[in-house]
Formats: sequence, C-alpha cells, structure tokens
Amino acid sequence: MKIGFIGLGNMGAPMAANLAAAGHEVVGFDTVADTPEGVKAVGSGAEAASDADVVITMLPNGAILRAVAAEIIPAMAPDAVFVDCSTVEVDAAREVAEQAADAGLGWLDAPVSGGVGGAAGGTLTFMVGGSEDAFARVQPLFDIMGQKAVLCGPAGNGQAAKICNNMILGVTMIATCEAFAMADKLGLARQSMFDVVSTSSGYSWTMNAYCPAPGVGPQSPSDNDYQPGFAAELMLKDLGLAQAAAEAADADTPMGAAALALYRRFVEEEDGKGRDFSAMLPRFEGRSRS
Ligand code: NAD
Repeated sequence: MKIGFIGLGNMGAPMAANLAAAGHEVVGFDTVADTPEGVKAVGSGAEAASDADVVITMLPNGAILRAVAAEIIPAMAPDAVFVDCSTVEVDAAREVAEQAADAGLGWLDAPVSGGVGGAAGGTLTFMVGGSEDAFARVQPLFDIMGQKAVLCGPAGNGQAAKICNNMILGVTMIATCEAFAMADKLGLARQSMFDVVSTSSGYSWTMNAYCPAPGVGPQSPSDNDYQPGFAAELMLKDLGLAQAAAEAADADTPMGAAALALYRRFVEEEDGKGRDFSAMLPRFEGRSRS
C-alpha cells in the first residue's frame, strides 16, 4: 500500500518504520522530527497525504489534528482512508470523521496502548472507531504495527475506549500506590503485600504487571528510578480528556475527577513531570494525612 504518515515523534517514527520494513511504500512528514529509515521525507502534510491509500496521523493533541485534517482532507485521493492514531478528544475525532466522510473518505480513530516499546516492537493494541469496511482495509497495517486491533463501533468509539481504559488505569495506579504507602506505615513488607494482593481480590494490572514498588514483582519503571515508561504528564493528558468526555456526556465520574486532580498536582506542583506515572508511590511515601 501507499501510506502517508504524519507525525513522526516517539510513537509515529517506529510505527512508520515498521510499515516500511514490511514492504509498504511510506512517505512521511513531521514539522520537527527526523524521518526514520525506510520512510521517504516530503515537505508538507498535504504532500504526504496526496496519492496515499491510507494516511496515518500520530500527533500530540486534538487542536493539531484538526489543523492537519483541514490541510490534508482536500489533498487526499478519493476512497483513501484517514487513520488517526493520536489520543484526542472524542468530539475532535467525531468532528474530523464527519469532514472526512463529507469528502468521500474513509475514517478510523485508532488510538493505541503499548507505549514506545509497543510501537518499536510492533505490539501495540489499537482501539478503533469507524466503519467495518475501513477497518477491514486497514487491518493488515494494524497487524504490522500491533498485536491486536478491536473495532469498538462508529467514529469516536476508539477514543472513548481509550479514555475509559486510561481512567481505570490512573485510578487503579493511585489506589495501588496509596495502599503500598499505607502498608509501609502498618509495618507490612512490600513483598508480602505484593504476594497477597497479586493473588487476591485487590489484584490489577498496576499491581501484577507494572508494580510501582521497586524490587517487587516483575521488572517495571519503578526498578529504573521511575524513568518512563508512561510519563505522569501523559496520564494527566488522558485523565483530562476523560473528564472532558464525562462532562460532555453528563457521566458521573468522581474517581476519575479525583485522579485528574492528583496527577495535575503531581505534574504541575510536585516533582512528577518527566517521571513514570507509577512514581505516585514515592509521592505517597513522603506524606502524612494532614
Ligand atoms: P511526540 O510529541 O513524540 O510526537 C508527535 C509529533 O508530531 C512530533 O514529532 C511533532 O513534531 C509532530 N507534529 C506536531 N505538529 C505537527 C504537524 N502540524 N504536522 C506534522 N507533524 C507535527 O508524541 P508521541 O509520544 O509520539 O505521542 C503521539 C500521540 O500518541 C499522542 O497523542 C499521545 O497521547 C499518544 N500516545 C503516546 C504514548 C507514549 O507512550 N508516548 C502512548 C500511547 C498514546
């Protein structure tokens, strides 16, 4: 396939490189980042988009997606599919999907989980919103860049799935960290805490697969001085998107709201910026109730 790839940052570059390595013809554009091996650099988003069967965007936020969409939709070939893999507001995805449909183009919002390691290793999970037809056409590309792609319903539903998942993740990480810090104060060894909880009803991905306590459980960013991994500021972004969606849909999400407030404080006022989101544990360690 001919693929236009726009946004070649930490995630986009390895994703584009994997598509090129699998034999697809990939042209790429980024305002700043270098073009990875195997991808042909072009001078604008519109140039990357014209003549492509599939255009993939991997951009920082919804405002940039809207701007890029305005530039590339008129340039795209009839019947091409626009696949946005960025994490953005549900509303932004639905708005751009409508513009794509009006121009006769296919659309998929396909945010990912799996981080930079998953992007490099081709093991991402794609949560996808859009038509079955567009999904079937792009599936071979999802198979190269990832290990799983789930069609979650019409446009916007991929973003909805992503922020619901990450709201659970943020809330669960905080719960796991505050429980570890409380266990410390109760004189319970962290290894004992892990051995019990990881096989009891308090288990979770954050405890069992990404344990925030160094030296306990499987290898995780906590064992590497909380280098990300998944940075606290990215969790803050996703929790913000979740609350924006909750407000728009009139959904009552007190735990999601509390998690947003805590990560905001952690990133903006404490020392969370640039650290993994599991560094909530050392944050709680140093605190008391007052
Ligand atoms: P990044 O900042 O490294 O990459 C974004 C790239 O987009 C940058 O290179 C930037 O120069 C480029 N860009 C900005 N405006 C542009 C424009 N108008 N035209 C072309 N390129 C432009 O970010 P990332 O870590 O690669 O994340 C990308 C998206 O994936 C984000 O929406 C993020 O929330 C999501 N995401 C990231 C991770 C992660 O672990 N990094 C995990 C899951 C999802």
